[in-house]
Amino acid sequence: MAAPLIDISKLKKAFGQNVVLKDISLQVERGQVVAIIGPSGSGKSTLLRCINLLSVPQGGRITVGEQTIEFNGVHTTLPNERALARFRASTGMVFQHFNLFPHMTVLRNVMEGPVTVLKTPKAQAEAEARALLAKVGLLERADYFPDKLSGGQKQRVAIARALAMKPTVMLFDEATSALDPELVGEVLGVIKGLAKDGMTMILVTHEIGFAREVADQVVFMRDGLVAESGPPERVIDNPQEASTQAFLGRFKGVAAQ
Ligand code: ADP
Ligand code: MG
Repeated sequence: MAAPLIDISKLKKAFGQNVVLKDISLQVERGQVVAIIGPSGSGKSTLLRCINLLSVPQGGRITVGEQTIEFNGVHTTLPNERALARFRASTGMVFQHFNLFPHMTVLRNVMEGPVTVLKTPKAQAEAEARALLAKVGLLERADYFPDKLSGGQKQRVAIARALAMKPTVMLFDEATSALDPELVGEVLGVIKGLAKDGMTMILVTHEIGFAREVADQVVFMRDGLVAESGPPERVIDNPQEASTQAFLGRFKGVAAQ
């Protein structure tokens, strides 16, 4: 069998005395969608930030495609700036808050990474940006500034901007939790389209129904550990661990009201 596209092994991360990721291992095959669920504070965001190297782990190993970085406590030497930028670019991150550049049009926001980091010629970057804006349904907003967009539209631009770097994997950290409820669907629709296209994705989400629908693998995190993982039919519909049952029970309670 082919090696997994993403291979996270024995990842450890502490902030001072607070050990946030204790020993996380996770494999993701090409084209798979992994949903990470779990209570607040369990380390979900930290895991995504470590995969993107926004946070540097103290132990373990991360492979994304052809690139592997080993973390060895205080002695971890990160690759040089260029290799680091390339590693980061291979993991497209979409945050809860959109972080668009406010002084740039939608089109410029999407072109900026390819032009400045990948050195893509401007005409090519613009053509690709327009194609991505069409994909997220916002081509007609190309010349708008972010403050003229709704939250759902901003988040779709943020997705196009991440895709513009041609990442190996897309990471979503609660991409819909800052949105008004009526805007959640349009963003989930875009994510669903990416899944259909075969994009490899790791989603941290509280949208349990959505996770069940799109995920190939669901990971339940608790206290910096993977408490349970497997296909959605098992982890969401038939959880084995008491902590998973308690966590999901809260959602079922809400849904039943
Ligand atoms: P989740 O996304 O599951 O809610 P987080 O990964 O955000 O969890 O946080 C897990 C723990 O790590 C929390 O106790 C949080 O306070 C701590 N933490 C996260 N980021 C930092 C940081 N930059 N500095 C110190 N502590 C942090
Ligand atoms: Mg979080």
